[in-house]
Amino acid sequence: MVKQVNFGDELVSPEEKTRRVGAVFSSVAKRYDVMNDLMSGGMHRLWKDRFVARVKPRPGELILDMAGGTGDVAFRMARRGASVTVADINPDMLEVGKERADERTLTGLAWKVENAEKLSFADGVFDAYTIVFGIRNVTDIPATLREARRVLKRGGRFYCMEFSSSDWPGFSDIYEAFASKVIPRIGKAVADDEDSYRYLVESIRRFPKPPAFQAMVTEAGFVRAAAEPMLGGLVTIHSGWKI
Ligand code: SAM
Repeated sequence: MVKQVNFGDELVSPEEKTRRVGAVFSSVAKRYDVMNDLMSGGMHRLWKDRFVARVKPRPGELILDMAGGTGDVAFRMARRGASVTVADINPDMLEVGKERADERTLTGLAWKVENAEKLSFADGVFDAYTIVFGIRNVTDIPATLREARRVLKRGGRFYCMEFSSSDWPGFSDIYEAFASKVIPRIGKAVADDEDSYRYLVESIRRFPKPPAFQAMVTEAGFVRAAAEPMLGGLVTIHSGWKI
């Protein structure tokens, strides 16, 4: 029997999940940035600043920003002098990112269509690997983590930021109501796409809790795997090292 995986709350074949995730991001690409602001009340900017402060990109470092989409995280790292490859499975997201980079006259960026589960890069190339709000969308998380480790140099750093559900009782109830009722409606009003935003909310609910994800990071061979929760675990920065 073909193994089924979750696409939001639905069970589908792995190929179908990859196809549907592609359709979601092609559909939201042009409105992705404005929707991020609306869905998070602008908070995603602060989370990304904090994330990049943890990564500590240095001039001359080679960093792979996986599932980098429209470049938000990559731009912050390039401004600190790192050479950043923005890789994403979705060419539409990358196209929007390239236009944004041109508007900002940013240098030090390369753009590449890549599936996080099977990268085309050689072993041991990058000083750091980042993946922000991306890993919950991939079909095979363990394969993605193994590939992350493979393309890192020895001593290379892995950083991932992802949503989960907050443990703060009152806050998590308010967030749940906002996420399940309000976000799809904003998606309908702003991007004329309720289903894609419903998927994004469901995929957050389905993503492993931080301790379970941290165990997967360790399982993939990273050492000193750590999790830094924000807002009671609504957003967590995970890290690990390749030795
Ligand atoms: N990192 C960006 C940010 O924080 O603004 C974009 C995050 S967006 C929510 C998720 C991204 O993951 C999308 O651009 C999508 O195309 C990408 N993605 C989904 N599955 C992928 C895969 N298997 N390999 C590479 N990228 C993937």
